[in-house]
Amino acid sequence: MSTTDFARPATAVAARATELTKVFGEGETRVVALDQVSVDFRQGELTAIMGPSGSGKSTLMHCVAGLDDFSSGSVRIGDTELASLKDKQLTRLRRDKIGFIFQAFNLLPTLTARENITLPMDIAGRKPDKEWLDSVTSMVGLADRLSHRPAELSGGQQQRVAVARALASQPEIIFGDEPTGNLDSRSGAEVLGFLRNSVRQMGQTVVMVTHDPVAATYADRVVFLVDGRIVDELKAPTADAVLDRMRSLPGSGGAPAAPAPAEPSA
Ligand code: ADP
Ligand code: MG
Repeated sequence: MSTTDFARPATAVAARATELTKVFGEGETRVVALDQVSVDFRQGELTAIMGPSGSGKSTLMHCVAGLDDFSSGSVRIGDTELASLKDKQLTRLRRDKIGFIFQAFNLLPTLTARENITLPMDIAGRKPDKEWLDSVTSMVGLADRLSHRPAELSGGQQQRVAVARALASQPEIIFGDEPTGNLDSRSGAEVLGFLRNSVRQMGQTVVMVTHDPVAATYADRVVFLVDGRIVDELKAPTADAVLDRMRSLPGSGGAPAAPAPAEPSA
């Protein structure tokens, strides 16, 4: 072993998009939703994706999470190239390696909180790790609500169930599309706090789409999309800095924007 082996390794990449392009429709209705996007999501980081409506945020998330196919470029989850997978393998990768949190909580109404949390693992035939489940459910403050059904829970509590469900299988990466979009600001702040705790305390990797500059301050890094391209990036964001960047984005209606900087290199 050479001395360089002791050097601190670069943080591993949980997911990577390389020149990712997604085109919807053709002819008159052709829309380039993603235009050669290259971006890394590093392990143990919380990344926020921001940008105007229609800028490609959801499309980026769906393509990187293997929920939608793409036109060209490549996507890697851990060491796995998504394009190399057959449908069945892709389904399995999504199930085993990826957690999802949506704006609408997507809980099954007939199941209890506990059953909703373990459902993906039950479907996969995997035994949830009891200790891990206990720590996840107590982290999100649901320990005494586990036998309640979604209708007996507030919106904030339902989204906490969704957060616990995403964390339960210790996935490689969790994607959230506006996970606080349906919550009042207090419940939203709680959910964001839990996501950040999962990153800080459990080493989870999280990528979330948000249009809320305050939500973005929970992230380690914000990536800005405009017209299907990454045009900017901010580390350790403050709400003011995020607002400032949003105002100066091309097409934001703010002051005439400077030409978009080159895409950040990997
Ligand atoms: P965002 O999440 O940033 O609001 P989207 O990723 O949903 O943006 O959409 C990016 C672009 O792709 C938009 O122009 C949108 O109209 C288009 N788009 C998204 N989904 C589809 C689809 N299923 N069919 C056709 N166009 C789509
Ligand atoms: Mg969207």
